[in-house]
Amino acid sequence: MPSRHDAIADAVLAGSPATEEDALVVLRSGDDELLEVVAAAARLRRKHFGNAVKVNYLVNLKSGLCPEDCHYCSQRLGSQADILKYTWLRPDEAVAQAAAGLRGGATRICMVSSGRGPTDRDVDRVAGMVGALKQEHPDVEVCACLGLLKDGQAERLRQAGVDAYNHNLNTAQSHHDDIVTTHTYADRVDTVNRAKDAGLSPCSGLIAGLGESDEQLVEALFALRDLGSDSIPVNFLMPFDGTPLEGTWELTPGRCLRMLAMARIVCPDTEIRIAGGREMHLRSLQGLALHVANSIFLGDYLTSEGQAAEADLELIRDNGFVVLGAEAVTAGARPASEPPHDPAKRRRGAGTDVPANA
Ligand code: SF4
Repeated sequence: MPSRHDAIADAVLAGSPATEEDALVVLRSGDDELLEVVAAAARLRRKHFGNAVKVNYLVNLKSGLCPEDCHYCSQRLGSQADILKYTWLRPDEAVAQAAAGLRGGATRICMVSSGRGPTDRDVDRVAGMVGALKQEHPDVEVCACLGLLKDGQAERLRQAGVDAYNHNLNTAQSHHDDIVTTHTYADRVDTVNRAKDAGLSPCSGLIAGLGESDEQLVEALFALRDLGSDSIPVNFLMPFDGTPLEGTWELTPGRCLRMLAMARIVCPDTEIRIAGGREMHLRSLQGLALHVANSIFLGDYLTSEGQAAEADLELIRDNGFVVLGAEAVTAGARPASEPPHDPAKRRRGAGTDVPANA
């Protein structure tokens, strides 16, 4: 007899969209059902994305010193988090950073700046960077993430060659005002719609672990489905010291995995990207998460360090996936360019005076 999660996947595969009740079944599944949940969501992932993983790379063009008060953000007004703060990168610096990501295997570069939203001068500045990047790397896909957009700005970015625009809904409408007061949920929806109307691919996602209920997580996900987001980054809160959510630890690896599976079941053919907090919260379940999600960030995040970029690529290979756009390699195979590791010789514990690894 198929599991209840398989039955949900069967219905979705047959063309019936998942309901809010289905989403809650997945989100509230037990630990003894976790592999069933992954297997069910993996069928949808395989159908729409095969064994490819899209690799994205973040370039933080301007960091910190934001006048907005998003409670989860280390760059917010009054944040005491000890992060890098700098104003706009020069165009050559931005292109050099993006090129590093492309060398690492990324196909999409996400150009991000802190702040409520760009001035028209900022939009021109980013347009220039994108032009320079595309001149050197014509095939690169560029996503801009510059905050709330005003009249004409999305069109200007599109003309400059920007392919996509990221603006996350972050959380449910019913929870939004608990996590930010300087702009509204409607402001966020408006910017996603402006991007869409200008022909930019809408990228909009979530941050989980902000004190939301299960129902609010489902509410946010269905709002993203209704909004028509082409790409849904799922972030897991990294509670920086010095921000209002300091000390907020609500997530477990299993819950994060269930959230990704729920996103896949609700939005079966949408890019589901494991975003910030992947290493911190999924921990040893990152590999299983790739069977559900089909996209990750390579290397570092905006203000925090990710695991080594090589570990990201190894994660993809070891789990039988290939980087989207990369030359076809045998899944799981170590590339010839990478020498095998010599086993680390034990020099601690029994037979030594050095404390044991325990
Ligand atoms: S999320 Fe964006 S708008 Fe909000 S505080 Fe951070 S940088 Fe500013």
